[in-house]
Amino acid sequence: MEVPQSEELINELVERVAGEVGVIVYSLRPQREFTDEEISQELGIEINEVRKALFSLYELGIAEYRRKRDEETGWMEYYWKINYNKEREVLLRELLKTKRKLQEKLEMEDSAVYYICINGCLKVKYETAMEMNFSCIRCGAPLDYLDSSKAKQKLIEEMGKIDEIIKNLRHERNN
Ligand SMILES: [Zn+2]
Repeated sequence: MEVPQSEELINELVERVAGEVGVIVYSLRPQREFTDEEISQELGIEINEVRKALFSLYELGIAEYRRKRDEETGWMEYYWKINYNKEREVLLRELLKTKRKLQEKLEMEDSAVYYICINGCLKVKYETAMEMNFSCIRCGAPLDYLDSSKAKQKLIEEMGKIDEIIKNLRHERNN
């Protein structure tokens, strides 16, 4: 199975939480502390955009900052640092989180039999469908039994893929 590499994964993650600006800032790989103003000037990107992206990286647990008052202007300045050595730890945490969500979805599918409106208005449990006399309360169309075996199969496949990725990441770490 083709498993994405950690670099690709971290870029995806950074893009998801911190957007395009996040990816740009992240890929600069600054090795020392920097202010959002410096980055903003260097890249020609609005300082608010840069700051927003950096705070998203902070929330992800991969960036940190300290504040210092500028003696001339009196403004608070943020000095940022990106911890590239935390990449893998953060990736693993996010992958496990995603896997847990998939697991929950799977359990939800397993715990009940569902019916859906043939027009797609709603999805209800069997008991509710029975109360509705198997016709949609929104549009009146019949409710149909939802065969979730394919959806479940897909969830299982996705979870397997995540396991593969995690295994690879752990392997990379040991090398
Ligand atoms: Zn309907």
